[in-house]
Amino acid sequence: MAVLITESCINCDACIEECPATAIVSADESPLSGGEYTYVKPEKCIECVDSAVPKCADVCPTEGCIVWDMPYTEAYNDHFIDSDDYVIRVHKKKGILSPEVTPRPFRENISIADRTNRVSVGETLQLYIP
Ligand code: SF4
Ligand code: SF4
Repeated sequence: MAVLITESCINCDACIEECPATAIVSADESPLSGGEYTYVKPEKCIECVDSAVPKCADVCPTEGCIVWDMPYTEAYNDHFIDSDDYVIRVHKKKGILSPEVTPRPFRENISIADRTNRVSVGETLQLYIP
């Protein structure tokens, strides 16, 4: 997946520069109609798999603001395509960059239950601390 920024976001934009995948945009660039909050593009998010922790959640000052969503993989194609929470980019040649077309890396140690329940990423950070 991805991670999802929720309505508790205070639009401080601190997470934007931290993202190694340039997956985060400010509210005024959100592709959501009337998007009010900083937004994560799930078609770009790599869950910071090469870092110790998801960097957006590590820097976010607002507890519980960033939550887990499903892996951005073919199995969850409909979840992302049919969601009101996301607007997936349409590429000129490839078409919609759905999970089927451009699956992204994800953290296998985050359970599907935690993703389904949109558990706060901050609550799971201890999983990554040696
Ligand atoms: S988890 Fe990592 S790749 Fe995904 S939006 Fe946050 S900082 Fe970017
Ligand atoms: S760091 Fe947290 S509060 Fe600030 S814009 Fe990002 S998600 Fe929102």
